[in-house]
Amino acid sequence: MHAPLHALTATLLALTTLALAGCALAPNGPAIDDSRRARGQDSRVLFVVLHYTVGDFRRAMQVLTEGEVSAHYLLSDEVPPRIYRLVDETRRAWHSGNSAWQGHRLLNASSIGIEIVHPGPRTDGEGRRVDIPFPEAQIEALIPLLRDIAARHAIRPERILGHGEVSPSYKEDPGPTFPWRRLAEAGLTPPWPDAAAVTAQQALFEAAPPEAAWYQQALARHGYAVEPSGSFDAQTARVLMNFQMRYRPVRFDGRPDAETAALLQVLTRP
Ligand SMILES: [Zn+2]
Repeated sequence: MHAPLHALTATLLALTTLALAGCALAPNGPAIDDSRRARGQDSRVLFVVLHYTVGDFRRAMQVLTEGEVSAHYLLSDEVPPRIYRLVDETRRAWHSGNSAWQGHRLLNASSIGIEIVHPGPRTDGEGRRVDIPFPEAQIEALIPLLRDIAARHAIRPERILGHGEVSPSYKEDPGPTFPWRRLAEAGLTPPWPDAAAVTAQQALFEAAPPEAAWYQQALARHGYAVEPSGSFDAQTARVLMNFQMRYRPVRFDGRPDAETAALLQVLTRP
C-alpha cells in the first residue's frame, strides 16, 4: 500500500509549514497561530530574591524538592559548587511568601528565588552569634548566574534583593556576611554608597539625630514595607537590622544611629 506521492508530499509540506509558522493545536480545540508577535511585552520576572538555606545541602535539597517551599535555583556548597534548577523560570517557586518591595507584594509571582547553601548564624561557646563567610567559589558561581538572569529578564539593579529585605519582620537571609558590596562592584546591584558622602552626612546626623518618622520615610522610599508609626517600634528595628546587615554589617543591632541614617540618606536622596 502506497499513499499517492503527491498526497504524502502535501502532508509533509503542511507539517513543515505548521512547524515554521509556529502553529500549535490546542488539545481538542482550535489551531493557535503564533506566527505574529507583539512588540509590547516584557518578562513577568521583576525581582531576584536571595536566600540561605540554614540546612546543609542534602537537607536543603530534600526540603526544596519534597516540601512546601521551593526555589528556582539551589546553589550548593559542593567543591566546586553546583547550581540546580528546581523550578523553571517560567513558573512560580515558593520562596518569599509574605513579602513586599517598592509597593509590590507577594513576590513569588514576580521573582526568581535563589537558595544558597549556608548554615546561617551559629552560636559559639560563650553564647555569642557567629556569622560564617560565604565560600569564594559560591560567590564566583552566583555572580554569572545573577548576571544571566538579570540580562534575560531585564531586572533592574535595585530589584536584586535579600529575603530579609522583602520579609524583614521574620527573615534576615542571606545575612550579614553576604557580600553585597561585591555584587555592587560587579554592577549587578546599585552603586555602593560613596564613603565621603556618607561621612559628611554622618557628621550632620550626629549633630541632629533624625526622628523615627524620618527613618521610616527614608526606609519606605528605599523600598521596604514599613509602617509610618512615628516611633522606634519592633517592626522598624527589624527593618533597620536588615538594612544594616546589607550596608553596615559590622553592627546590625537594629538601632538608629548617625551612620545608618547617613547611609540611608545617601542611598535615597533624589
Ligand atoms: Zn529565605
